[in-house]
Amino acid sequence: MQELTHYINGAHVKGTSGRFADVYNPATGEVQAKCPLASVAEMDQAVAAAEAAQPAWAAVNPQRRARVMMKFVDLLHRDMDKLAEALSREHGKTLPDAKGDVIRGLEVVEYCIGAPQMLKGDFTDSAGPGIDMYSMRQALGVTAGITPFNFPAMIPMWMFAPAIVCGNAFILKPSERDPSVPLMLAELMEEAGAPKGILQVVNGDKEAVDAILQNEVIQSVGFVGSTPIAAYIYAEGCANGKRVQCFGGAKNHMIIMPDADMTQAADALVGAGYGAAGERCMAISVAVAVGDGTADRLLEKLVPKVETLKVGPYTSGDDVDYGPVVTAAAKANIERLVQTGIDQGATLAVDGRDFKLQGYEDGFFVGPHLFDNVTPDMDIYKHEIFGPVLSTVRVDTYEDGLKLAMDHEYGNGTAIFTRDGDTARDFANRVNVGMVGVNVPIPVPLAYHTFGGWKKSVFGDLNQHGPDAFKFYTRTKTVTSRWPSGLKEGGEFSIPVME
Ligand code: NAD
Repeated sequence: MQELTHYINGAHVKGTSGRFADVYNPATGEVQAKCPLASVAEMDQAVAAAEAAQPAWAAVNPQRRARVMMKFVDLLHRDMDKLAEALSREHGKTLPDAKGDVIRGLEVVEYCIGAPQMLKGDFTDSAGPGIDMYSMRQALGVTAGITPFNFPAMIPMWMFAPAIVCGNAFILKPSERDPSVPLMLAELMEEAGAPKGILQVVNGDKEAVDAILQNEVIQSVGFVGSTPIAAYIYAEGCANGKRVQCFGGAKNHMIIMPDADMTQAADALVGAGYGAAGERCMAISVAVAVGDGTADRLLEKLVPKVETLKVGPYTSGDDVDYGPVVTAAAKANIERLVQTGIDQGATLAVDGRDFKLQGYEDGFFVGPHLFDNVTPDMDIYKHEIFGPVLSTVRVDTYEDGLKLAMDHEYGNGTAIFTRDGDTARDFANRVNVGMVGVNVPIPVPLAYHTFGGWKKSVFGDLNQHGPDAFKFYTRTKTVTSRWPSGLKEGGEFSIPVME
C-alpha cells in the first residue's frame, strides 16, 4: 500500500500523527494509497518553514517571480500526461477531462506572469507643497488554501499561483481524497525555481484546517468546497482576524426558452449535466423548460442522448463520457437523493439505478438519471446532488423561470438558451447569480476575468483569479513623504488639507 506524504520545506515527509485517510481508485473501489492526516504540530512545522522563507521571496523582484511561473507552465506541459493519469486514477474523471483540469489551472498561472504589471503601484507627484504620495501592494506573508476533491489541479493553482507571484508563501491543504496531484505540483514549482518553503502541501482533515484557522502567523485563508464548511471557515477565519474568501456549493439552472434550438439545448445539457459525473460546481443540475410543449420537445431530444451516455473507467480511452463518482459515500448519497425524487413524485424519465459495468462491479459508478416534473419543494431540487442526475422543471413563463433561479439559495452559475436577444439581455441583467451563460451552459470565466458566485455560493468580497486575486493576496500601503525643505516651522494642530 502506497503511503503518501506531506511536502514540507522542500521535501516529502511522512505523516507523524498516526492518522490516515484511504485514497480510492474510484473505478475499481480499491484503496490504492493512504493519505496522512496532519496534526497541529505538523502544520506548525510548515508554517515555520513558510515564515522563514517568505521575506526573501517577497524581496525578489516581480519579474523574476513571474519567470518562475513561466517555467512552471513549461513543466506542466512537459508532465501533462503524468499529471492527468494521477488525477484520473484518484478522482475518476476521464483523461481528457483531467487534462482540462490541469489546463484551466495552467491558464491562471499564465495570467500570473503579468504580475509586474499587476503589482505596479500608484504615485502622485506634488500631492501638496513638496509632498509626494505613493501606494504599493505588498505581500501578506504566509497564506493558506483549502481545496475540494473535484478539481485537484485547477483549484490549487487558482490560489497558489497568484499568492506566490505576489511574494507570499502558500500552504495548501488539498482534499484528502485525491492528494497526489497537489504534491506533484509542489515538486514542479520547486523545479521551476520557487524556493523551499514557498509552496508546501500539508495533507489532512478538519484537524489540519483548524490548525490553519488558529495559527496566528497565517494571514489569509482561501477555501473552495461545500457551503456548510465554507460558512464555518469564513466565520472562524474572520473571527481570528484573517483575510478569508470561501466558495461553496451550487445548484445551477439552465432556462430553455421555447425559441431555443432544442438539439443545441439537449447537447448542452448532456455535457453540462453529466460531464465529470456531475461533480462540478458549474454543472447544470436543473433544466427549466419554459412554455407549453417546450419540455416535451426538449426531452424528445435529450432522453436518447442521456440513455446512450458512455460510462466507464478512464483507462477505457477517450470516448468515455464520464467516470465513477469519487467515493462509495458519494454514490450512496446520490442514490438516496434519487429515491427521494421518486418518493416525492418526480418522474424518472431515464432510470440509471440498475447501471452495472462488467469487471468494475466494486467501482463507484452511477448510471445517468433524468427527472421530469420536478417541483421546488422536492429534495432533489433543493439540494446539491453532485452526481449524474438532471432535474427538469416545467414552468409557464420566462418570469417564472427567472424567479426559480433567483429564489434558489445558491447562486454560482446559470444559463439561458434562446434566440431572442432581449430575453437574454434581460436575464443577464436581472438574475442574482455570479456567472451567466447565454447559449453557453457552463460559463466558467477565463483566467483574466474573475470566478465567483453569489448568495450561499460565496462568503467574502473578492473573486478567484483575474484582478481580484492580486487584491486578495496583497495589502495596500500608502506612503506620504516630504523632504525637510518642504517643512514649515512649528507644530501643526489641525488636520492638514492640501490647498
Ligand atoms: P468539502 O466541503 O467536503 O471539502 C472541501 C475541503 O474542506 C477539503 O479539503 C476537506 O478536507 C475540508 N473539510 C471537509 N470537512 C471539513 C470540516 N468539517 N472542517 C474543516 N474542513 C473540512 O467539499 P468536497 O466534497 O471536496 O467538494 C465538493 C463541493 O465543493 C461541492 O459542494 C461543490 O459545489 C463545491 N465546489 C465549489 C466550487 C466553487 O467555486 N464555488 C468549486 C468546486 C467545488
